[in-house]
Amino acid sequence: MTKTLAYAAQSATTPLAPFTFERRAPRANDVAIDILYCGVCHSDLHQIRNDWQNSIYPMVPGHEIIGRVVAVGDAVGKFKAGDLVGVGCMVDSCQTCPSCQDDLEQFCEQGMTQTYNGYERDGKTIAQGGYSSHIVVREEFVLRVPETLSAAAAAPLLCAGITTYSPLRHWGVKAGQKVGIVGLGGLGHMGVKFARAFGAHTVVFTTSPNKKDDALRLGAHEVVVSKNADEMAAHAGSFDFILDTVAASHNLDAFVNLLKRDGTLTLVGAPDHPHPSPTVFGLIMGRKSIAGSLIGGIAETQEMLDFCAQHGITSDVEVIAMNDINAAYERMLKGDVKYRFVIDMKTLAA
Ligand code: NAP
Ligand code: ZN
Repeated sequence: MTKTLAYAAQSATTPLAPFTFERRAPRANDVAIDILYCGVCHSDLHQIRNDWQNSIYPMVPGHEIIGRVVAVGDAVGKFKAGDLVGVGCMVDSCQTCPSCQDDLEQFCEQGMTQTYNGYERDGKTIAQGGYSSHIVVREEFVLRVPETLSAAAAAPLLCAGITTYSPLRHWGVKAGQKVGIVGLGGLGHMGVKFARAFGAHTVVFTTSPNKKDDALRLGAHEVVVSKNADEMAAHAGSFDFILDTVAASHNLDAFVNLLKRDGTLTLVGAPDHPHPSPTVFGLIMGRKSIAGSLIGGIAETQEMLDFCAQHGITSDVEVIAMNDINAAYERMLKGDVKYRFVIDMKTLAA
């Protein structure tokens, strides 16, 4: 067992504060990692505040982890001390069910082990996340991070990156298509970079007119202020695919109306309250779909990291100290993040 420094929430209403706990000693198939940086996902905020009614405390959030390997178990073949590695939203799964066999561990039929806010596979040890000095993870759930990527700017790829890359790939986004990204936050800004890299005509929908210039700089061809009915109407019936990353309940019909025949609106944002029910006729007229997507499997996460290295893609980050975290959450609630907070773990001991 190793003493681990961290920040934790003790309940839904208390701010994050220093916390110490024990990590397991590495088993034969484990990798022990010193954490350099951890991204701050809106899911961290949802879970520390118990928005999804399933929170377990004390909770050390964080599932966008970048670090260096410090030790490996005897059976580990893929990693050695000194390697730059990442850990995302999952740290274990059954590895045998049809979903795991299909490299879709996020849909493990026995339930994946979340990096935090869940129990390890012993059913009693609370899994604790990346706002901490180090972590121990079984080899199959550790990602290789190309050394050419900035470690801080690569951290958000482990959740915001894969959560947008995976649906854009699954629904076959490619050159010649018109693709919308709704919400320019941590997920949204990665969605813009990927949609553009896949060759699509990329349109950002934002509620924040002051993000227009950034959206274009990040790679969007066009920007629409979604509260402006005229701007929305100009795009009616024209999209092949729209990815909705918004962290709050909103009207989906407004985006279904923008899809072409056979188009798909895929939801990745996970608000605490359901969206108002979509109008059935909006879907019937044009054979349109509303779908959902959850992060991505481990093999696809590695593919995404390698794609990012090849194309020079990382997240636009604001690096913060650990004790800035509660203020960062307040800014995130106001949509005031450009475009992902990343905690420098050196500041944890300070
Ligand atoms: P974020 O950085 O806070 O970005 C969310 C964006 O949504 C905001 O920047 C804002 O963009 C837009 N928005 C519009 N109205 C909003 C409102 N009333 N409240 C909050 N945001 C509003 O969040 P994120 O980290 O990208 O996460 C987005 C959502 O995806 C969260 O619900 C998160 O839990 C979920 N998530 C899902 C998965 C998955 O696997 N499905 C994985 C990770 C995260 P504009 O200013 O441009 O309008
Ligand atoms: Zn996340």
